[in-house]
Amino acid sequence: MKLDVVTLFPEWFEWFRGQRHVGNALAAGSTLTLINPRDHTPLGGGQVDDAPFGGGAGMVLRVDVIDATLREHYGVEPTGLRHARRVIALSPAGRLLDEPLVAELAAEPALTFLCGRYEGFDERIVEHYASDVVSVGRYVLSGGELAAMVCADAVLRKLPGALGHPGSALEESFSEALEGLPEYPQYTRPADFRGWRVPEVLLSGHHEEIRRWRLERARERGR
Ligand code: SAH
Repeated sequence: MKLDVVTLFPEWFEWFRGQRHVGNALAAGSTLTLINPRDHTPLGGGQVDDAPFGGGAGMVLRVDVIDATLREHYGVEPTGLRHARRVIALSPAGRLLDEPLVAELAAEPALTFLCGRYEGFDERIVEHYASDVVSVGRYVLSGGELAAMVCADAVLRKLPGALGHPGSALEESFSEALEGLPEYPQYTRPADFRGWRVPEVLLSGHHEEIRRWRLERARERGR
């Protein structure tokens, strides 16, 4: 998986890159490349944004800057890039990220995330360069960086070798193994803490009963 992130704040990803499952995915051959529009802007003084036409607060990322960034980095006509890989503009109003979308993205060989800042993108960026518009929830973050990390985290942990235990990603919330339901409750030692006892069935060693109990609990949570 080749993950590219277009961001004005590449340093935000240093911490992310250092996390174990991200490191595992990178060691297994995935890449995380940060592309800073400030390094590619054709405008003077590192300018990347401008005041919105029609007035209003804040600044808008310029379409010519994103054009130059994608053109220089990929060496292609940037309107064609989305035919070669998914180019995902992050926006609070986009398609909500959920497990089916994560699975869809994890099956791609390469993704490019476009992180907005300030008031967001000039709409022509979304119209002419993006293949998708994705939201991590109906609330507004100050930039696309955390949203890109949410997407990248969810995608990378799906890849073989990212998690310490490969079974972890098979049977978890919203997986096919759980019929798309939230996961059942999990417990560990001590079996009794302050009188709060772990459900007996889990201590019984009856695998079939445990399986049935877990599926019932997952169905309850999914209601
Ligand atoms: N003015 C815009 C918000 C801009 S927030 C509006 O009202 O819709 C600045 C940037 O942060 C956005 O361009 C987007 O890239 C990112 N962002 C903010 N919230 C997000 C969310 N919930 N999901 C994905 N990206 C988000």
